[in-house]
Amino acid sequence: MASPTASQRYLSTRGGSYGFTFEAAVLKGLASDNGLFIPEAIPSPPTNWQKTWKTLSFQDLAYEVLSLYISPDEIPSSDLRELVTRSYSTFRHEDITPLNTILPDANLHVLELFHGPTFAFKDVALQFVGNLFEYFLVRKNKDVKEGEKRHHLTVIGATSGDTGSAAIYGLRGKRDVSVFILHPKGRVSPIQEAQMTTVLDKNVHNLSVVGTFDDCQDVVKALFSHPELSKSHNLGAVNSINWARILAQIVYYFYSYFTLLRRLPVGSVPIFRYVVPTGNFGDVLAGYYAKKMGLPIDKLVIATNENDILDRFFRTSRYEKRPVSPEEGEGGPAVGGVKATLSPAMDILISSNFERLLWYLAYENEIPNATNEDQKRARAGSVLNEWMTSLKNTGTTVVSEDVLNIAKRDFTSERVSDNQTVETIRHMFNTPPSASYILDPHSAVGVAASLRLIKASQAAGEENVHHISLSTAHPAKFNHAVDLALTGISGGEEVGDYDFEKMVRPQEFLGLETREKRVREVERADVELVRQVVVEVLEEEEVER
Ligand SMILES: *Cc1c(COP(=O)(O)O)cnc(C)c1O
Repeated sequence: MASPTASQRYLSTRGGSYGFTFEAAVLKGLASDNGLFIPEAIPSPPTNWQKTWKTLSFQDLAYEVLSLYISPDEIPSSDLRELVTRSYSTFRHEDITPLNTILPDANLHVLELFHGPTFAFKDVALQFVGNLFEYFLVRKNKDVKEGEKRHHLTVIGATSGDTGSAAIYGLRGKRDVSVFILHPKGRVSPIQEAQMTTVLDKNVHNLSVVGTFDDCQDVVKALFSHPELSKSHNLGAVNSINWARILAQIVYYFYSYFTLLRRLPVGSVPIFRYVVPTGNFGDVLAGYYAKKMGLPIDKLVIATNENDILDRFFRTSRYEKRPVSPEEGEGGPAVGGVKATLSPAMDILISSNFERLLWYLAYENEIPNATNEDQKRARAGSVLNEWMTSLKNTGTTVVSEDVLNIAKRDFTSERVSDNQTVETIRHMFNTPPSASYILDPHSAVGVAASLRLIKASQAAGEENVHHISLSTAHPAKFNHAVDLALTGISGGEEVGDYDFEKMVRPQEFLGLETREKRVREVERADVELVRQVVVEVLEEEEVER
């Protein structure tokens, strides 16, 4: 068999280790030197990909992209195809990630990523990751005899809403895998709470923890390094730093590119910009991989809400855990805190996946000085290490102008306030021909940024520029912001007839909140307490298995 290519082996960004298999990268999640896994090289598609990939279905294209990063020694082609097909069979739209042109005259297209089971973009990755975990575990258990102990994976995660439900739907009913999701009691939206707790599969465990999201996250971190628990149980994570999540998200950049190309006149040479509502930098990082693989993307636009660490980086070359922007003034939150915005899935202090981009920036900046590939990678790892140490110790990392300029070849950034988010939802609802197109607040952050860029592009006389704005959630999931924008409570531009029940709420949400639920309350965000619950529940589950 062919041995894995460089793009099918993985290394840690912190420079400590090389040569990991895809399976190890996915199951470990985080490297033991605390770095993130990245492929040893970014692959190029086959020479005539522009032609051969152009008319592929989402699933076939996904297979092509994924197999560049996963050796057939690890997952045979037919198994990978089957995993992909099964992962996307749960989507409601036949295109999986359809492209909707909402302003044809302005070449504004919305890439709808919310047609999976939990109505948010995380499904695109987590439906695949769930099947992947099961695949690895079942394979490990192939030779385990009746009565012998089976390999088992216990996935533990904390959620403020979106990740939890997508992880639960990705892992429900999977063999040899159990999942525990901690959410802060009473602090996730009723719809999100119901989405998680109405899943009754035996391997799914919701823990409603009295405390905040940060408390839950701290408990999860402590559990992963808990000496007893990590010895007695095989723990897994599905948080946004898992390489398999990034990988699965590369696919829709290629797919939407071809979708749009097929709709444009033959011979047209469009300029493509992707605008991505960003929190932990996973989604837009997948776009970076697509671009480096050769997809002709002019720019990737990072759209942040008022938690704007990334936008500040691009303006100042300082990656800084600082809290409030000047215009928020004294009414802002306490120094060091996350600001609660209308787009909560993007409320972050630092973006965990940004470490991966920083590694590439360090790497590209080393090119003139290093002579061979190993040396360059090692240098990149040690520079990255310095940056991350500084961030950890002082809350700040400053990069040189050269490094920032390397980043600016691929990215620009835009910051969008809550007010602009609400105005954008209202504006798009009112504007023909998009009239009555309803954006969720995260997607609205992207569209607000897109509208700014379109204006600037038109003023500069650019032609044939297309903005593809990623839509990360269905509006019914974040109806608070949508109601705020469209029922006129917040004043501003007058709104046409709006009816949540008729226009927004999907069939699947009907009666969701009154269905049977399964959830355990944990009265304190205490590591020992949660560990006991986890162990106890796993024992019960084992009895039933
Ligand atoms: C997670 C999430 C985001 C942010 O994506 P990142 O990959 O963390 O940048 C944006 N919108 C929604 C609805 C999400 O759930």
